[in-house]
Amino acid sequence: MNEEIIAEYKKLRNEIDSKCQRLWNIHRAHMKCKEGCSQCCQAFRILPVEFHYISLMLKNKNIAINKDFGSSQCKFLVNNRCSIYEHRPVICRTHGFPLTRLNEEAGAYEVSFCELNFEGFKLEKFNKNNVFPEDVYNSKLYMLNKKFIGQLHETPYDSIQLLELNNVGEAFTF
Ligand code: SF4
Repeated sequence: MNEEIIAEYKKLRNEIDSKCQRLWNIHRAHMKCKEGCSQCCQAFRILPVEFHYISLMLKNKNIAINKDFGSSQCKFLVNNRCSIYEHRPVICRTHGFPLTRLNEEAGAYEVSFCELNFEGFKLEKFNKNNVFPEDVYNSKLYMLNKKFIGQLHETPYDSIQLLELNNVGEAFTF
């Protein structure tokens, strides 16, 4: 994985983090997210660019894993804490926030969020300034992933391939 891709991935991730921080400042009174809650954690599948970035960051590090994780669980969830919190993928960074994506069939945006959050909150209060545009950032990540796999000489991936987060650290890193 070259420096250019690493820098672009970090830039995108920082942009997502600051957007989420802004949303936290707006919505914290209606959100129950807190350290120790792992309601959203599961065995996610991620794009190769994230898979290889995280593998690189964890290389030669002694990271705690849950050795008894089940097929639907994330192996990095140890005692209800994320053992790779600093390097967790984008999907984990947006947990709990109101996420919007275009429902093409309905021709309208849909908003989704953790069932523990926004109790009693009027849905009509959501607007473009207080939600996370999930599809916009998924597109940015998709384009970066395309660039990453396009730079590989003999890529084993196609543009829509997802890899198991639970296999991070166990596979060859480009
Ligand atoms: S990487 Fe961390 S935040 Fe993401 S699912 Fe695993 S334990 Fe949860």
